[in-house]
Amino acid sequence: MRPGIELEGKRVLVVGLARTGIATALFCAARGARVTATEERSEAQVAEAARKLRAAGCVLELGGHVDATFLAQDLIVPSPGVSQTMPQLAAARAQGIRIWSEIELAWRFLQGRLVAITGSNGKTTTTSLIGHILETAGIPLLVAGNIGTPLISRVETTSDATVTVAEVSSFQLETIESFRPNIGLLLNLTPDHLDRHPSFEAYSLAKARLFENQTEKDAAIVNADDPAAVRHAPSRPQVFWFSPSKRVANGAFLRGNQIVFRRDGAETVLLRREEIGLRGAHNLENVLAAAAAASLAGAAPGAIAAGVRSFAGVEHRLEFVAAIGDVSFYNDSKATNVDATLKALDAFPGNLLVILGGKDKGSDFTLLRQPLRERARWALLIGTAAEKIAEQIAGAAPVEMAGTLDRAVRLACERARPGDVVLLAPACASFDQFENYEHRGRFFKQLVRDLEHSRSFGKAGKPPR
Ligand code: ADP
Repeated sequence: MRPGIELEGKRVLVVGLARTGIATALFCAARGARVTATEERSEAQVAEAARKLRAAGCVLELGGHVDATFLAQDLIVPSPGVSQTMPQLAAARAQGIRIWSEIELAWRFLQGRLVAITGSNGKTTTTSLIGHILETAGIPLLVAGNIGTPLISRVETTSDATVTVAEVSSFQLETIESFRPNIGLLLNLTPDHLDRHPSFEAYSLAKARLFENQTEKDAAIVNADDPAAVRHAPSRPQVFWFSPSKRVANGAFLRGNQIVFRRDGAETVLLRREEIGLRGAHNLENVLAAAAAASLAGAAPGAIAAGVRSFAGVEHRLEFVAAIGDVSFYNDSKATNVDATLKALDAFPGNLLVILGGKDKGSDFTLLRQPLRERARWALLIGTAAEKIAEQIAGAAPVEMAGTLDRAVRLACERARPGDVVLLAPACASFDQFENYEHRGRFFKQLVRDLEHSRSFGKAGKPPR
């Protein structure tokens, strides 16, 4: 039984009015809560949301926060983008006021089973793949969370038969209380968001809270090849591992070219490695993790194989854009940290012209030196992090300070030789020059398409295998 919560008449403060905050405020208001929503941005900047929320009976405090409001609540729901160190939240916490993330609230209303996915990289890919497999298996499902629709706005569509597949972030896990997935999946732990978490350990501990409330009846799926993830593996739920390098006692692994799922000594061969359509060793990990989760959620082996085979990948994740002449273009705009970029570089044998840069998140770009030396013909640097990257990768590959993405694409085109790959895998956030990584990725694709049209020799081709 879930602990639930009666919202009728409760004073609820929602902090931050982006997608999740808006959905949370509307949800609480619809259940009779007295909702206040506060946001740093001004009325003019959030006009559309403000209109909607007022129509639903919410009180708005815009253009900044009123300290006293935080202390006059039964529940505060900060949006994922809001820092836990915000003084008003600290003051409310000191007074014993409940502070929950949206996933905690949503979980209390969710019916059926929950598969929750977290990790530093691969969450969206793995969440979509699990969703796609369950759909192929004919299991009623809901895919939600960070991946698009906030969980809270869809909980009402769930029933006892629903399997909800939710991508959850470290920020959301920081403020859970009873949130308890039936199947929790920790993909990997590598430094990310160190501008928002005090340390790698604090960030890892926030992610590991995924398992905190699980019991013996639940399952935890953990990357056996990631030492930090192994260190944070739980003891209470049943642990299933995934690994491309070793045969695990319980979980999914690679044997020769076969993907195998083993549970309590019984082995099932699910599919062959070459049936995976996605590029890169990291996607093999995602497939193993998704296969384990889908098996545990009740998908038949045939459906898992069919689902993996027919999965086309997710936009902005090593997405093939076009081949112009003999040069291929890949969009990995979602590579917003160094680890994701390392995986992207690793997915190609060489001849790379890599576009790097954007807004630095306190990253160590020296980690890119070795793969750049091995695989890159050029590094084209953009955005505010360009100087730091240039310094940290000096000597590993020829560097061009391109400044902007359009200049980088143009330069890459001039420099590329037949057989080369132009890869956008920036290792940085996008906010210095773009609204978000999607905007950056779409802009890149548009630049490539414009190029394709402007070059008479260009014909859209197929991605090389
Ligand atoms: P997330 O939702 O965790 O950000 P995505 O699936 O959106 O993960 O992928 C983010 C970036 O990380 C992309 O650049 C992608 O190519 C890369 N990536 C995907 N899966 C993994 C993985 N298992 N390990 C490392 N990098 C990965």
